[in-house]
Amino acid sequence: MNTSNPSNTSNPSASASSNFIHNIIREDLKQGKNNNRVHTRFPPEPNGYLHIGHAKSICLNFGTALEFNGLCNLRFDDTNPSKEETEFVESIQEDIQWLGFSWDDRLYYASNYFETLYGFAVKLIEKGLAFVCDLSPEEMRQYRGTLTEAGKESPYRNRSVQENLELFQKMRAGEFANGEKVLRAKIDMSSPNLNMRDPVIYRIMHATHHRTGDQWCIYPMYDFAHPLSDAIEHITHSVCTMEFEDHRPLYDWLVDHLIEGDRPRQYEFARLDLTNTVMSKRKLRQLVEGAYVSGWDDPRMPTLSGLRRRGYTPEAIRDFCDRIGVAKANSTVDVTLLEHCLREDLNAKARRVMAVLNPLKVVLINYPEDSEEFLEAENNPEDQDAGSRLIPFSRTLYIEQEDFMEDPPKKFFRLSPGNEVRLKHAYIIKCERVVKNENGDITEIHCTYDPDTKSGGPNSAKKVKGTLHWVSAVHAADAEIRLYDYLIRDDNESLTDESEENDAENSAAKDDFLSRINPESIQVLTHCKVEPGLADAEPGSKYQFLRQGYFCADVKDHSHQKLVFNRVVGLRDSWAKMSK
Ligand code: ATP
Ligand code: MG
Repeated sequence: MNTSNPSNTSNPSASASSNFIHNIIREDLKQGKNNNRVHTRFPPEPNGYLHIGHAKSICLNFGTALEFNGLCNLRFDDTNPSKEETEFVESIQEDIQWLGFSWDDRLYYASNYFETLYGFAVKLIEKGLAFVCDLSPEEMRQYRGTLTEAGKESPYRNRSVQENLELFQKMRAGEFANGEKVLRAKIDMSSPNLNMRDPVIYRIMHATHHRTGDQWCIYPMYDFAHPLSDAIEHITHSVCTMEFEDHRPLYDWLVDHLIEGDRPRQYEFARLDLTNTVMSKRKLRQLVEGAYVSGWDDPRMPTLSGLRRRGYTPEAIRDFCDRIGVAKANSTVDVTLLEHCLREDLNAKARRVMAVLNPLKVVLINYPEDSEEFLEAENNPEDQDAGSRLIPFSRTLYIEQEDFMEDPPKKFFRLSPGNEVRLKHAYIIKCERVVKNENGDITEIHCTYDPDTKSGGPNSAKKVKGTLHWVSAVHAADAEIRLYDYLIRDDNESLTDESEENDAENSAAKDDFLSRINPESIQVLTHCKVEPGLADAEPGSKYQFLRQGYFCADVKDHSHQKLVFNRVVGLRDSWAKMSK
Protein backbone atom coordinates (compact mmCIF):
# COMPACT_ATOMS: atom_id res chain seq x y z
CA MET A 1 0.00 0.00 0.00
CA ASN A 2 1.41 3.33 -1.01
CA THR A 3 0.82 5.84 1.72
CA SER A 4 3.41 8.37 0.67
CA ASN A 5 2.00 11.77 0.31
CA PRO A 6 3.92 13.91 -2.15
CA SER A 7 1.19 16.51 -2.64
CA ASN A 8 1.44 17.58 0.93
CA THR A 9 3.92 20.11 2.18
CA SER A 10 3.42 19.70 5.89
CA ASN A 11 2.11 16.80 7.83
CA PRO A 12 -0.08 16.96 10.86
CA SER A 13 1.57 16.58 14.19
CA ALA A 14 0.15 15.88 17.58
CA SER A 15 -1.59 19.10 18.44
CA ALA A 16 -1.57 20.98 21.69
CA SER A 17 -5.34 21.40 21.58
CA SER A 18 -7.31 19.18 23.87
CA ASN A 19 -10.88 17.93 24.02
CA PHE A 20 -13.09 15.77 26.18
CA ILE A 21 -12.13 12.60 24.30
CA HIS A 22 -8.47 13.29 24.99
CA ASN A 23 -9.31 13.83 28.64
CA ILE A 24 -11.05 10.45 28.77
CA ILE A 25 -8.02 8.83 27.18
CA ARG A 26 -5.64 10.51 29.62
CA GLU A 27 -7.71 9.14 32.48
CA ASP A 28 -7.72 5.66 30.90
CA LEU A 29 -3.96 5.77 30.51
CA LYS A 30 -3.57 6.83 34.14
CA GLN A 31 -5.54 3.76 35.15
CA GLY A 32 -3.56 1.54 32.80
CA LYS A 33 -6.61 0.50 30.78
CA ASN A 34 -6.13 -1.44 27.51
CA ASN A 35 -2.47 -2.10 28.44
CA ASN A 36 -1.92 1.60 27.79
CA ARG A 37 -2.78 1.21 24.14
CA VAL A 38 -4.71 3.86 22.21
CA HIS A 39 -6.22 2.54 18.99
CA THR A 40 -8.88 4.41 17.00
CA ARG A 41 -10.42 3.90 13.58
CA PHE A 42 -12.08 5.97 10.88
CA PRO A 43 -15.01 3.93 9.53
CA PRO A 44 -16.47 5.46 6.35
CA GLU A 45 -19.22 3.75 4.45
CA PRO A 46 -18.09 3.71 0.80
CA ASN A 47 -21.32 5.15 -0.56
CA GLY A 48 -20.16 8.65 -1.47
CA TYR A 49 -17.25 11.05 -1.37
CA LEU A 50 -15.90 12.39 1.91
CA HIS A 51 -16.98 15.87 2.95
CA ILE A 52 -15.71 18.49 5.35
CA GLY A 53 -17.71 16.85 8.17
CA HIS A 54 -15.72 13.66 7.66
CA ALA A 55 -12.56 15.76 7.89
CA LYS A 56 -13.55 16.57 11.46
CA SER A 57 -13.84 12.87 12.24
CA ILE A 58 -10.59 12.05 10.41
CA CYS A 59 -8.67 14.76 12.26
CA LEU A 60 -10.12 13.54 15.54
CA ASN A 61 -9.45 9.84 14.98
CA PHE A 62 -6.03 10.08 13.31
CA GLY A 63 -5.09 13.12 15.40
CA THR A 64 -5.90 11.28 18.64
CA ALA A 65 -3.65 8.40 17.60
CA LEU A 66 -0.84 10.87 16.87
CA GLU A 67 -1.40 12.66 20.16
CA PHE A 68 -1.13 9.50 22.24
CA ASN A 69 1.41 7.60 20.17
CA GLY A 70 -1.31 5.16 19.19
CA LEU A 71 -2.69 3.76 15.96
CA CYS A 72 -5.63 4.61 13.74
CA ASN A 73 -7.13 2.16 11.25
CA LEU A 74 -9.02 2.92 8.10
CA ARG A 75 -11.99 0.60 7.97
CA PHE A 76 -14.55 0.59 5.22
CA ASP A 77 -17.93 -0.14 6.71
CA ASP A 78 -19.15 -1.97 3.66
CA THR A 79 -22.04 -3.97 5.05
CA ASN A 80 -24.68 -2.64 2.65
CA PRO A 81 -23.97 -4.03 -0.83
CA SER A 82 -26.66 -2.08 -2.63
CA LYS A 83 -25.17 1.39 -2.24
CA GLU A 84 -21.44 0.84 -2.28
CA GLU A 85 -18.94 1.27 -5.06
CA THR A 86 -15.24 0.87 -5.67
CA GLU A 87 -15.02 4.45 -6.97
CA PHE A 88 -15.87 5.64 -3.47
CA VAL A 89 -13.34 3.32 -1.84
CA GLU A 90 -10.60 4.86 -3.95
CA SER A 91 -11.65 8.47 -3.52
CA ILE A 92 -11.87 8.06 0.26
CA GLN A 93 -8.29 6.80 0.46
CA GLU A 94 -7.06 9.61 -1.74
CA ASP A 95 -8.81 12.22 0.38
CA ILE A 96 -7.47 10.93 3.71
CA GLN A 97 -3.93 10.90 2.35
CA TRP A 98 -4.37 14.36 0.92
CA LEU A 99 -5.44 15.59 4.35
CA GLY A 100 -2.07 14.33 5.52
CA PHE A 101 -2.97 11.21 7.48
CA SER A 102 -1.77 7.65 7.10
CA TRP A 103 -3.22 4.30 8.14
CA ASP A 104 0.10 2.64 7.24
CA ASP A 105 -0.73 -1.02 6.56
CA ARG A 106 -3.99 -0.97 8.50
CA LEU A 107 -6.59 -0.81 5.77
CA TYR A 108 -9.56 -3.00 6.61
CA TYR A 109 -13.04 -3.79 5.36
CA ALA A 110 -15.96 -4.90 7.48
CA SER A 111 -16.61 -7.33 4.62
CA ASN A 112 -13.31 -9.05 5.50
CA TYR A 113 -15.02 -10.11 8.69
CA PHE A 114 -18.23 -11.52 7.20
CA GLU A 115 -17.25 -15.08 8.13
CA THR A 116 -16.18 -14.07 11.66
CA LEU A 117 -19.31 -12.00 12.11
CA TYR A 118 -21.42 -14.93 10.97
CA GLY A 119 -19.65 -16.97 13.65
CA PHE A 120 -20.52 -14.35 16.27
CA ALA A 121 -24.17 -14.53 15.21
CA VAL A 122 -24.13 -18.32 15.54
CA LYS A 123 -22.61 -17.92 19.00
CA LEU A 124 -25.45 -15.59 20.00
CA ILE A 125 -27.99 -18.13 18.77
CA GLU A 126 -26.25 -20.87 20.74
CA LYS A 127 -26.41 -18.73 23.85
CA GLY A 128 -30.13 -18.33 23.29
CA LEU A 129 -29.61 -14.62 22.58
CA ALA A 130 -30.71 -14.45 18.95
CA PHE A 131 -33.60 -15.85 16.92
CA VAL A 132 -34.80 -16.04 13.36
CA CYS A 133 -37.96 -13.99 12.93
CA ASP A 134 -40.56 -14.28 10.16
CA LEU A 135 -42.48 -11.10 10.86
CA SER A 136 -42.82 -8.82 7.87
CA PRO A 137 -41.21 -5.38 8.14
CA GLU A 138 -44.68 -3.90 8.62
CA GLU A 139 -45.55 -6.35 11.40
CA MET A 140 -42.22 -5.73 13.02
CA ARG A 141 -42.98 -2.03 13.12
CA GLN A 142 -46.27 -2.72 14.83
CA TYR A 143 -44.68 -5.05 17.37
CA ARG A 144 -41.91 -2.60 18.16
CA GLY A 145 -44.12 -0.23 20.18
CA THR A 146 -43.40 3.45 20.63
CA LEU A 147 -41.37 5.69 22.89
CA THR A 148 -44.20 5.68 25.43
CA GLU A 149 -45.48 2.16 24.87
CA ALA A 150 -43.64 -1.13 25.34
CA GLY A 151 -43.24 -3.45 22.37
CA LYS A 152 -44.70 -6.92 21.92
CA GLU A 153 -42.61 -10.06 21.68
CA SER A 154 -42.42 -11.72 18.29
CA PRO A 155 -44.30 -15.05 18.07
CA TYR A 156 -41.03 -16.52 16.69
CA ARG A 157 -39.00 -15.43 19.70
CA ASN A 158 -39.07 -18.77 21.45
CA ARG A 159 -37.84 -20.95 18.63
CA SER A 160 -35.36 -23.52 19.86
CA VAL A 161 -31.64 -22.98 19.49
CA GLN A 162 -31.56 -25.90 17.08
CA GLU A 163 -34.32 -24.51 14.88
CA ASN A 164 -32.69 -21.08 14.86
CA LEU A 165 -29.33 -22.54 13.85
CA GLU A 166 -30.93 -24.45 11.01
CA LEU A 167 -32.95 -21.49 9.77
CA PHE A 168 -29.98 -19.12 9.95
CA GLN A 169 -27.93 -21.64 7.98
CA LYS A 170 -30.71 -21.77 5.36
CA MET A 171 -30.80 -17.98 5.24
CA ARG A 172 -27.11 -18.06 4.40
CA ALA A 173 -27.64 -20.81 1.83
CA GLY A 174 -30.03 -18.59 -0.10
CA GLU A 175 -33.21 -20.57 0.59
CA PHE A 176 -35.30 -17.49 1.34
CA ALA A 177 -36.23 -14.36 -0.54
CA ASN A 178 -35.29 -10.82 0.48
CA GLY A 179 -37.16 -9.78 3.60
CA GLU A 180 -38.63 -13.22 4.24
CA LYS A 181 -36.66 -13.69 7.46
CA VAL A 182 -34.24 -11.79 9.64
CA LEU A 183 -32.01 -12.67 12.56
CA ARG A 184 -32.77 -10.64 15.68
CA ALA A 185 -30.98 -10.24 18.97
CA LYS A 186 -33.13 -11.35 21.90
CA ILE A 187 -32.90 -8.47 24.35
CA ASP A 188 -35.92 -6.70 25.80
CA MET A 189 -39.13 -5.66 24.04
CA SER A 190 -40.03 -3.38 26.94
CA SER A 191 -36.74 -1.50 27.02
CA PRO A 192 -37.23 2.29 26.99
CA ASN A 193 -34.51 2.29 24.31
CA LEU A 194 -36.03 1.23 20.99
CA ASN A 195 -32.66 0.00 19.77
CA MET A 196 -32.78 -2.69 22.46
CA ARG A 197 -36.17 -4.08 21.43
CA ASP A 198 -34.88 -7.23 19.75
CA PRO A 199 -33.00 -5.37 16.99
CA VAL A 200 -32.42 -6.97 13.62
CA ILE A 201 -28.78 -8.05 13.28
CA TYR A 202 -28.84 -9.89 9.93
CA ARG A 203 -31.00 -9.44 6.87
CA ILE A 204 -31.38 -11.26 3.60
CA MET A 205 -30.22 -9.31 0.56
CA HIS A 206 -29.64 -11.03 -2.72
CA ALA A 207 -27.20 -8.44 -4.02
CA THR A 208 -23.68 -8.42 -5.40
CA HIS A 209 -21.17 -6.92 -3.02
CA HIS A 210 -18.28 -4.81 -4.36
CA ARG A 211 -15.73 -7.09 -2.68
CA THR A 212 -17.36 -10.40 -1.81
CA GLY A 213 -19.38 -10.67 -5.02
CA ASP A 214 -22.21 -13.20 -4.69
CA GLN A 215 -20.61 -15.11 -1.86
CA TRP A 216 -23.20 -13.84 0.63
CA CYS A 217 -26.91 -13.21 0.51
CA ILE A 218 -27.22 -12.28 4.16
CA TYR A 219 -25.59 -9.14 5.47
CA PRO A 220 -24.99 -7.97 9.04
CA MET A 221 -26.61 -4.73 10.16
CA TYR A 222 -24.34 -1.81 10.94
CA ASP A 223 -25.19 -1.95 14.65
CA PHE A 224 -24.05 -5.56 14.79
CA ALA A 225 -21.01 -5.31 12.54
CA HIS A 226 -19.58 -2.12 13.99
CA PRO A 227 -18.84 -3.02 17.64
CA LEU A 228 -17.64 -6.48 16.64
CA SER A 229 -15.36 -5.09 13.91
CA ASP A 230 -13.99 -2.71 16.54
CA ALA A 231 -13.32 -5.67 18.82
CA ILE A 232 -11.70 -7.72 16.03
CA GLU A 233 -9.30 -4.84 15.36
CA HIS A 234 -8.60 -4.29 19.07
CA ILE A 235 -9.89 -0.74 18.88
CA THR A 236 -9.80 0.91 22.30
CA HIS A 237 -11.74 4.13 21.68
CA SER A 238 -14.48 4.00 19.05
CA VAL A 239 -15.35 7.60 18.36
CA CYS A 240 -18.52 8.39 16.44
CA THR A 241 -21.16 11.09 16.10
CA MET A 242 -23.99 11.84 18.53
CA GLU A 243 -26.73 10.04 16.60
CA PHE A 244 -25.16 6.78 17.78
CA GLU A 245 -25.51 7.64 21.46
CA ASP A 246 -28.78 5.69 21.70
CA HIS A 247 -27.09 2.74 20.02
CA ARG A 248 -24.37 2.52 22.66
CA PRO A 249 -26.35 0.13 24.93
CA LEU A 250 -26.59 -2.30 22.00
CA TYR A 251 -22.89 -1.81 21.28
CA ASP A 252 -22.11 -2.71 24.89
CA TRP A 253 -24.58 -5.60 24.96
CA LEU A 254 -22.92 -7.24 21.96
CA VAL A 255 -19.43 -6.72 23.34
CA ASP A 256 -20.52 -8.03 26.76
CA HIS A 257 -21.91 -11.24 25.31
CA LEU A 258 -19.36 -11.95 22.61
CA ILE A 259 -15.97 -10.46 23.48
CA GLU A 260 -13.45 -11.54 26.07
CA GLY A 261 -10.49 -9.48 27.20
CA ASP A 262 -9.92 -5.85 26.16
CA ARG A 263 -13.13 -4.29 25.00
CA PRO A 264 -13.70 -1.31 22.74
CA ARG A 265 -15.76 1.57 24.07
CA GLN A 266 -17.85 4.00 22.10
CA TYR A 267 -17.72 7.76 22.62
CA GLU A 268 -19.85 10.28 20.79
CA PHE A 269 -19.15 13.82 19.63
CA ALA A 270 -21.20 16.42 17.76
CA ARG A 271 -21.14 16.30 13.99
CA LEU A 272 -20.01 19.30 12.04
CA ASP A 273 -22.62 21.36 10.33
CA LEU A 274 -21.76 24.42 8.21
CA THR A 275 -23.75 27.39 7.03
CA ASN A 276 -24.49 27.79 3.31
CA THR A 277 -24.03 24.17 2.46
CA VAL A 278 -25.54 20.71 2.79
CA MET A 279 -23.49 17.95 4.26
CA SER A 280 -25.21 14.59 4.15
CA LYS A 281 -24.02 12.23 1.47
CA ARG A 282 -27.61 11.60 0.44
CA LYS A 283 -28.06 15.27 -0.41
CA LEU A 284 -24.66 15.57 -2.04
CA ARG A 285 -25.52 12.57 -4.17
CA GLN A 286 -28.75 14.28 -5.18
CA LEU A 287 -26.79 17.34 -6.30
CA VAL A 288 -24.48 15.18 -8.40
CA GLU A 289 -27.15 12.93 -9.89
CA GLY A 290 -29.46 15.85 -10.59
CA ALA A 291 -26.58 17.59 -12.41
CA TYR A 292 -26.89 20.66 -10.21
CA VAL A 293 -23.10 20.47 -10.03
CA SER A 294 -20.50 19.05 -12.41
CA GLY A 295 -19.62 16.13 -10.13
CA TRP A 296 -18.52 15.17 -6.62
CA ASP A 297 -15.44 17.35 -7.13
CA ASP A 298 -17.28 20.43 -8.35
CA PRO A 299 -15.44 23.36 -6.72
CA ARG A 300 -18.67 24.45 -5.01
CA MET A 301 -19.15 21.12 -3.23
CA PRO A 302 -18.21 20.68 0.45
CA THR A 303 -16.57 17.38 -0.45
CA LEU A 304 -12.84 17.13 0.19
CA SER A 305 -12.32 16.59 -3.54
CA GLY A 306 -14.40 19.69 -4.29
CA LEU A 307 -12.56 21.79 -1.73
CA ARG A 308 -9.23 20.51 -3.06
CA ARG A 309 -10.20 21.40 -6.62
CA ARG A 310 -11.41 24.80 -5.48
CA GLY A 311 -7.95 25.42 -4.03
CA TYR A 312 -8.29 24.58 -0.35
CA THR A 313 -5.14 23.29 1.32
CA PRO A 314 -4.98 20.36 3.76
CA GLU A 315 -3.30 22.68 6.25
CA ALA A 316 -6.27 25.07 6.19
CA ILE A 317 -8.77 22.26 6.71
CA ARG A 318 -6.77 20.78 9.59
CA ASP A 319 -6.47 24.22 11.17
CA PHE A 320 -10.23 24.64 10.83
CA CYS A 321 -10.89 21.27 12.50
CA ASP A 322 -8.54 22.27 15.28
CA ARG A 323 -10.30 25.56 15.87
CA ILE A 324 -13.85 24.25 15.90
CA GLY A 325 -12.87 21.76 18.59
CA VAL A 326 -14.71 18.65 19.66
CA ALA A 327 -17.75 18.78 21.92
CA LYS A 328 -21.05 17.04 22.48
CA ALA A 329 -23.42 19.90 21.66
CA ASN A 330 -24.47 20.15 18.03
CA SER A 331 -23.93 23.53 16.45
CA THR A 332 -23.61 25.07 13.05
CA VAL A 333 -20.25 26.58 12.24
CA ASP A 334 -20.12 29.68 10.08
CA VAL A 335 -18.49 28.87 6.75
CA THR A 336 -16.58 32.15 6.97
CA LEU A 337 -14.39 30.53 9.66
CA LEU A 338 -13.33 27.89 7.15
CA GLU A 339 -12.57 30.63 4.65
CA HIS A 340 -10.63 32.54 7.28
CA CYS A 341 -8.39 29.51 7.92
CA LEU A 342 -7.76 29.21 4.21
CA ARG A 343 -6.87 32.90 3.83
CA GLU A 344 -4.41 32.66 6.68
CA ASP A 345 -2.67 29.72 5.05
CA LEU A 346 -2.66 31.14 1.52
CA ASN A 347 -1.65 34.59 2.72
CA ALA A 348 1.58 33.06 3.98
CA LYS A 349 2.19 30.88 0.94
CA ALA A 350 0.59 32.22 -2.22
CA ARG A 351 2.61 34.26 -4.72
CA ARG A 352 1.11 37.60 -5.59
CA VAL A 353 0.44 38.22 -9.25
CA MET A 354 -1.72 40.54 -11.31
CA ALA A 355 -4.75 39.49 -13.32
CA VAL A 356 -7.49 41.59 -14.85
CA LEU A 357 -10.89 39.91 -14.78
CA ASN A 358 -12.88 42.42 -16.85
CA PRO A 359 -10.33 44.26 -18.98
CA LEU A 360 -10.49 47.92 -19.99
CA LYS A 361 -7.81 49.17 -22.36
CA VAL A 362 -5.55 52.02 -21.23
CA VAL A 363 -3.20 53.74 -23.68
CA LEU A 364 -0.32 55.79 -22.26
CA ILE A 365 -0.13 58.47 -24.90
CA ASN A 366 3.27 59.79 -23.77
CA TYR A 367 4.90 56.33 -23.54
CA PRO A 368 7.09 55.55 -26.58
CA GLU A 369 5.42 53.23 -29.11
CA ASP A 370 7.00 49.79 -29.58
CA SER A 371 8.88 50.17 -26.35
CA GLU A 372 8.79 47.93 -23.31
CA GLU A 373 10.48 47.61 -19.93
CA PHE A 374 10.55 45.14 -17.11
CA LEU A 375 9.68 46.19 -13.60
CA GLU A 376 10.52 44.37 -10.41
CA ALA A 377 7.58 43.01 -8.42
CA GLU A 378 7.76 41.26 -5.05
CA ASN A 379 6.27 37.77 -4.98
CA ASN A 380 4.98 37.75 -1.43
CA PRO A 381 5.43 40.52 1.12
CA GLU A 382 4.62 37.96 3.86
CA ASP A 383 7.49 35.71 2.86
CA GLN A 384 11.02 37.13 2.70
CA ASP A 385 12.24 34.08 0.80
CA ALA A 386 9.69 34.37 -1.99
CA GLY A 387 11.87 36.83 -3.93
CA SER A 388 10.69 38.93 -6.84
CA ARG A 389 10.02 38.71 -10.55
CA LEU A 390 10.11 41.06 -13.54
CA ILE A 391 6.83 42.07 -15.13
CA PRO A 392 6.54 43.71 -18.55
CA PHE A 393 5.24 47.25 -18.96
CA SER A 394 4.37 48.99 -22.22
CA ARG A 395 2.23 51.65 -23.84
CA THR A 396 -1.01 49.68 -23.86
CA LEU A 397 -2.30 48.15 -20.66
CA TYR A 398 -5.45 46.61 -19.26
CA ILE A 399 -7.02 47.67 -16.01
CA GLU A 400 -10.22 46.45 -14.38
CA GLN A 401 -13.41 47.97 -15.83
CA GLU A 402 -14.69 48.70 -12.37
CA ASP A 403 -11.55 50.69 -11.59
CA PHE A 404 -12.65 53.44 -13.95
CA MET A 405 -15.67 55.74 -13.69
CA GLU A 406 -16.37 58.55 -16.07
CA ASP A 407 -18.61 60.31 -13.61
CA PRO A 408 -17.49 59.11 -10.18
CA PRO A 409 -19.09 59.74 -6.80
CA LYS A 410 -17.10 61.74 -4.27
CA LYS A 411 -15.15 58.99 -2.59
CA PHE A 412 -14.10 57.08 -5.71
CA PHE A 413 -10.31 57.03 -5.51
CA ARG A 414 -9.67 54.95 -8.58
CA LEU A 415 -9.28 56.24 -12.12
CA SER A 416 -11.56 58.97 -13.48
CA PRO A 417 -11.11 61.89 -15.89
CA GLY A 418 -8.39 64.24 -14.65
CA ASN A 419 -7.56 61.98 -11.71
CA GLU A 420 -4.28 60.23 -10.88
CA VAL A 421 -3.69 56.70 -9.61
CA ARG A 422 -0.65 54.53 -9.09
CA LEU A 423 -0.21 51.37 -11.11
CA LYS A 424 1.11 48.75 -8.71
CA HIS A 425 4.87 48.18 -9.08
CA ALA A 426 4.93 50.88 -11.81
CA TYR A 427 4.10 54.54 -12.44
CA ILE A 428 1.50 57.09 -11.53
CA ILE A 429 -0.84 57.74 -14.44
CA LYS A 430 -3.42 60.44 -15.09
CA CYS A 431 -6.59 60.05 -17.11
CA GLU A 432 -6.67 62.57 -19.98
CA ARG A 433 -9.46 61.37 -22.24
CA VAL A 434 -12.19 58.76 -22.63
CA VAL A 435 -12.65 57.13 -26.03
CA LYS A 436 -16.08 55.75 -26.98
CA ASN A 437 -17.56 53.89 -29.92
CA GLU A 438 -20.63 54.94 -31.91
CA ASN A 439 -22.92 53.39 -29.24
CA GLY A 440 -21.37 55.52 -26.57
CA ASP A 441 -19.59 52.58 -24.89
CA ILE A 442 -16.15 53.27 -23.48
CA THR A 443 -13.56 51.44 -25.58
CA GLU A 444 -10.34 52.82 -24.15
CA ILE A 445 -8.90 55.37 -21.78
CA HIS A 446 -6.07 57.67 -22.78
CA CYS A 447 -3.68 58.50 -19.97
CA THR A 448 -0.28 60.08 -19.45
CA TYR A 449 2.29 58.52 -17.17
CA ASP A 450 4.89 60.26 -15.02
CA PRO A 451 8.29 58.62 -15.68
CA ASP A 452 9.71 59.99 -12.42
CA THR A 453 7.26 58.06 -10.23
CA LYS A 454 8.52 54.54 -10.61
CA SER A 455 10.25 52.79 -7.73
CA GLY A 456 13.68 54.42 -7.24
CA GLY A 457 12.71 57.37 -9.44
CA PRO A 458 13.10 61.02 -8.26
CA ASN A 459 9.38 61.34 -7.61
CA SER A 460 8.70 57.79 -6.41
CA ALA A 461 7.43 58.95 -3.03
CA LYS A 462 4.59 60.92 -4.56
CA LYS A 463 1.28 59.96 -2.89
CA VAL A 464 -2.00 59.26 -4.64
CA LYS A 465 -5.14 57.77 -3.13
CA GLY A 466 -5.63 54.74 -5.37
CA THR A 467 -3.40 51.90 -6.52
CA LEU A 468 -4.61 49.66 -9.35
CA HIS A 469 -3.52 46.30 -10.68
CA TRP A 470 -2.91 46.02 -14.42
CA VAL A 471 -1.28 43.93 -17.13
CA SER A 472 0.56 44.89 -20.29
CA ALA A 473 -1.73 44.24 -23.25
CA VAL A 474 0.78 42.77 -25.69
CA HIS A 475 2.41 40.61 -23.06
CA ALA A 476 -0.64 39.37 -21.15
CA ALA A 477 -1.91 35.83 -21.42
CA ASP A 478 -5.59 35.03 -21.92
CA ALA A 479 -7.38 33.16 -19.20
CA GLU A 480 -10.75 31.86 -18.15
CA ILE A 481 -11.61 32.69 -14.56
CA ARG A 482 -14.43 31.06 -12.58
CA LEU A 483 -15.92 32.95 -9.69
CA TYR A 484 -17.98 31.10 -7.10
CA ASP A 485 -20.64 31.96 -4.61
CA TYR A 486 -22.24 29.67 -2.03
CA LEU A 487 -24.09 26.76 -3.58
CA ILE A 488 -26.86 26.83 -0.99
CA ARG A 489 -28.56 29.87 0.41
CA ASP A 490 -29.44 29.77 4.05
CA ASP A 491 -33.16 29.71 4.86
CA ASN A 492 -33.69 33.34 5.70
CA GLU A 493 -32.04 34.51 2.49
CA SER A 494 -34.07 32.28 0.23
CA LEU A 495 -37.64 32.78 1.39
CA THR A 496 -39.40 34.42 -1.46
CA ASP A 497 -42.58 36.45 -1.10
CA GLU A 498 -44.55 33.64 -2.70
CA SER A 499 -43.58 31.00 -0.20
CA GLU A 500 -44.31 33.33 2.65
CA GLU A 501 -47.96 33.41 1.65
CA ASN A 502 -48.56 29.95 2.94
CA ASP A 503 -47.10 28.56 6.14
CA ALA A 504 -47.22 24.89 5.21
CA GLU A 505 -45.66 25.59 1.86
CA ASN A 506 -43.15 27.71 3.63
CA SER A 507 -41.87 24.97 5.91
CA ALA A 508 -41.84 22.47 3.07
CA ALA A 509 -39.65 24.87 1.13
CA LYS A 510 -37.30 25.05 4.10
CA ASP A 511 -36.83 21.29 4.20
CA ASP A 512 -36.25 21.05 0.50
CA PHE A 513 -32.66 22.12 0.09
CA LEU A 514 -32.97 22.01 -3.68
CA SER A 515 -35.16 25.09 -3.44
CA ARG A 516 -32.30 26.82 -1.66
CA ILE A 517 -29.80 26.30 -4.46
CA ASN A 518 -28.22 29.60 -5.39
CA PRO A 519 -28.77 30.05 -9.15
CA GLU A 520 -25.80 32.38 -9.31
CA SER A 521 -23.22 30.20 -7.61
CA ILE A 522 -20.87 30.22 -10.59
CA GLN A 523 -19.82 32.97 -12.96
CA VAL A 524 -17.41 32.19 -15.78
CA LEU A 525 -15.31 35.04 -17.18
CA THR A 526 -13.74 34.11 -20.49
CA HIS A 527 -11.90 37.27 -21.50
CA CYS A 528 -9.52 37.73 -18.61
CA LYS A 529 -5.94 38.92 -19.02
CA VAL A 530 -3.22 37.70 -16.70
CA GLU A 531 0.46 38.51 -16.37
CA PRO A 532 2.54 36.38 -18.74
CA GLY A 533 4.28 34.34 -16.03
CA LEU A 534 0.97 32.61 -15.31
CA ALA A 535 1.17 30.81 -18.64
CA ASP A 536 3.55 28.46 -16.82
CA ALA A 537 1.19 27.83 -13.89
CA GLU A 538 0.85 24.15 -13.07
CA PRO A 539 -2.62 22.72 -12.41
CA GLY A 540 -3.39 23.06 -8.71
CA SER A 541 -1.00 25.96 -8.12
CA LYS A 542 -2.35 28.81 -6.03
CA TYR A 543 -1.90 32.56 -6.28
CA GLN A 544 -3.16 35.75 -4.85
CA PHE A 545 -4.41 37.89 -7.70
CA LEU A 546 -3.84 41.35 -6.26
CA ARG A 547 -7.07 42.98 -5.05
CA GLN A 548 -9.15 40.02 -6.35
CA GLY A 549 -8.56 37.14 -3.99
CA TYR A 550 -6.89 33.76 -4.04
CA PHE A 551 -7.04 31.67 -7.17
CA CYS A 552 -6.12 28.12 -8.09
CA ALA A 553 -5.29 26.74 -11.53
CA ASP A 554 -8.01 24.16 -12.11
CA VAL A 555 -6.73 20.60 -11.81
CA LYS A 556 -9.02 19.32 -14.54
CA ASP A 557 -9.41 22.05 -17.13
CA HIS A 558 -6.26 24.16 -16.84
CA SER A 559 -3.31 23.57 -19.18
CA HIS A 560 -0.49 25.66 -20.60
CA GLN A 561 -2.62 26.01 -23.75
CA LYS A 562 -5.76 27.10 -21.92
CA LEU A 563 -5.41 28.86 -18.60
CA VAL A 564 -8.31 28.26 -16.22
CA PHE A 565 -8.37 29.59 -12.68
CA ASN A 566 -10.89 29.07 -9.89
CA ARG A 567 -11.39 31.78 -7.34
CA VAL A 568 -10.78 29.98 -4.07
CA VAL A 569 -11.88 32.84 -1.85
CA GLY A 570 -12.00 36.62 -1.98
CA LEU A 571 -9.77 38.84 0.13
CA ARG A 572 -12.43 40.27 2.43
CA ASP A 573 -12.34 38.34 5.67
CA SER A 574 -15.81 38.61 7.16
CA TRP A 575 -14.89 36.17 9.94
CA ALA A 576 -12.02 38.35 11.15
CA LYS A 577 -14.33 41.39 11.03
CA MET A 578 -17.12 39.62 12.88
CA SER A 579 -14.89 38.24 15.61
CA LYS A 580 -13.33 41.61 16.39
P1 ATP B 1 -23.59 11.49 6.14
O1 ATP B 1 -24.60 11.52 7.25
O2 ATP B 1 -23.00 12.81 5.80
O3 ATP B 1 -24.08 10.79 4.93
P2 ATP B 1 -22.37 9.28 7.39
O4 ATP B 1 -22.32 9.43 8.85
O5 ATP B 1 -23.38 8.38 6.81
O6 ATP B 1 -22.37 10.69 6.72
P3 ATP B 1 -20.08 7.60 7.24
O7 ATP B 1 -19.35 7.17 6.03
O8 ATP B 1 -20.88 6.61 7.99
O9 ATP B 1 -20.97 8.83 6.84
O10 ATP B 1 -19.10 8.37 8.22
C1 ATP B 1 -17.83 7.96 8.60
C2 ATP B 1 -17.50 8.63 9.90
O11 ATP B 1 -17.53 10.03 9.74
C3 ATP B 1 -18.51 8.28 10.96
O12 ATP B 1 -17.82 7.96 12.16
C4 ATP B 1 -19.32 9.53 11.12
O13 ATP B 1 -19.76 9.66 12.44
C5 ATP B 1 -18.33 10.62 10.74
N1 ATP B 1 -19.04 11.79 10.21
C6 ATP B 1 -19.92 11.82 9.18
N2 ATP B 1 -20.42 13.06 9.01
C7 ATP B 1 -19.84 13.84 9.95
C8 ATP B 1 -19.93 15.22 10.30
N3 ATP B 1 -20.73 16.05 9.63
N4 ATP B 1 -19.17 15.68 11.31
C9 ATP B 1 -18.35 14.84 11.98
N5 ATP B 1 -18.21 13.54 11.71
C10 ATP B 1 -18.94 13.03 10.71
MG1 MG C 1 -23.44 6.37 7.89
